[in-house]
Parts: sequence; structure tokens; C-alpha cells
Amino acid sequence: MTTTMPEFEDQELLRYSRQILLPEWDLEAQYRLKQSKVVLIGVGGLGTVSAQLLARAGVGELVLVDADTVDDSNLQRQVLFEPEDIGAPKAMVAAQKLQHTTPWLKVTARLERVDQASLQEIVQDCTLVLDGTDNFATRDLINRVCHAQGIPLISAAAIGMVGQLSYFPPEGPCYRCLFGESGIDDRSCAANGVLASTPQIMATLQAHHALLALGLNLSPLAGKLLLWDGMTGEQRLIRFSHDPDCVICGDTLGSPL
Ligand SMILES: [Zn+2]
Repeated sequence: MTTTMPEFEDQELLRYSRQILLPEWDLEAQYRLKQSKVVLIGVGGLGTVSAQLLARAGVGELVLVDADTVDDSNLQRQVLFEPEDIGAPKAMVAAQKLQHTTPWLKVTARLERVDQASLQEIVQDCTLVLDGTDNFATRDLINRVCHAQGIPLISAAAIGMVGQLSYFPPEGPCYRCLFGESGIDDRSCAANGVLASTPQIMATLQAHHALLALGLNLSPLAGKLLLWDGMTGEQRLIRFSHDPDCVICGDTLGSPL
């Protein structure tokens, strides 16, 4: 292997010792994780869990993007928040908590609602984007910007007692290939409800696949949609392929005529 040997403080080596012990996860995987910058869009039921796992696992840099403030109704499932945080900006509270647990983590809070211009700037030099938002328009925008900038995207969704997850490589197949122009289920937790465990499960899977991608260059969910059903315990994988007519990553754009 030609990777430069990592420089870890003793405390980091101790912190990650159970991970480095794994036959599948060595010091070089830990180093790749430390070199990674992950942008999380949405610091709610999904984002609080995935951010916490990635920070604890040893991701070098996190950017947390959310314009909302903490509400009492969030505390049922958004694990980084406590009653004393009510009214404070979610991204800021989350960044402070993560920084406390992992002092060497570089973490930035962006208290803003993303649009195309801001998203292009936020994700421009990152390694991976995690989508934890709850509406199709934002998910579609994140997909477009990630594809245009060549950044992989892991998108998770949780509602009620069901969830879904997929990994979208920059070259596709992308979110639009999978869901089309009109999108899918656009219900929000605020309007339709969510069991506390659902976002935790989906965000844990999202963080797991982020670790696989960042540490091991593995993306077993590329071209597959994972569906989790909390009522039956069933988990299914649905394969999908590149849509040649996709306006984001399809052959009709970008290829010479
Ligand atoms: Zn596409």
C-alpha cells in the first residue's frame, strides 16, 4: 500500500482502537475517515443520529446545515437535543455537542436553508453528502448539485414506521433516475407522525454506509434502494438502473451528439 501513514494522537488511537482491531477496518481506513469532509443537510431525526455516529467513528470534518431551532416535539427522536436547547439553532447545538465528545473533530454549523447557490458553495470541497431532509424539492436539488460537482450522496428517509436508503454515485444512477420528476412520498413527520425508532434506524444505516464509502471505498447500495418496514421487520433491496432519459445524469445531456 502506498498510503502515507496516518498521524494520530494517542487519544485518537485509544478512541478508535475497537474499530482498528477489525480485520476489515485497519489504520489506513481510519486515516481515510480522518481525511474526509462530510456535509449533512438536515440536523433532525436523521441528521442528529448520523452526525453523532460519524463524529464518534472518526470523520475528520463535518458541516451541519439546518435553519431550524430546537422544539420540544423534536426531543422524542432527535438525540443530540435536551430541554435546555429548546429555541436554539439545531446546527449550532449539534456542533457544540459533537465538539465536546470529539475535541479534534472540525465541525461547522450553517444555520441556513439551502438554495442552489448556497448548496454549491457548501458542498464544493467535501467528500460525501448525507441527505436527511424531508421534502422532495430539497432532495432533488441536493441530487442535482452533487451530480454536477461529482460528489457522492447518501439519501435516507424515515416516516411513520417505514424508511428508505440509497447511495447515489456522482456518475449515477441518481435520485432522479430512481424517483422521476414528480418525486415520491413527500409526507413530513410534522404532518404525518414518526415513531422514535424509525429515523434512528435509517440514520444508523446511512452512517454505516457512509463509513463503508469513506473508509473502505465500498458502496453496496449504489443502484439499489433499501426499503425498511418497521411493522413487519422486512428489509428489501430493489435494484434500479441508470435512466438514459434522466435530465440530471442521463445520456441526453453532456454526451456528444
Ligand atoms: Zn439520473
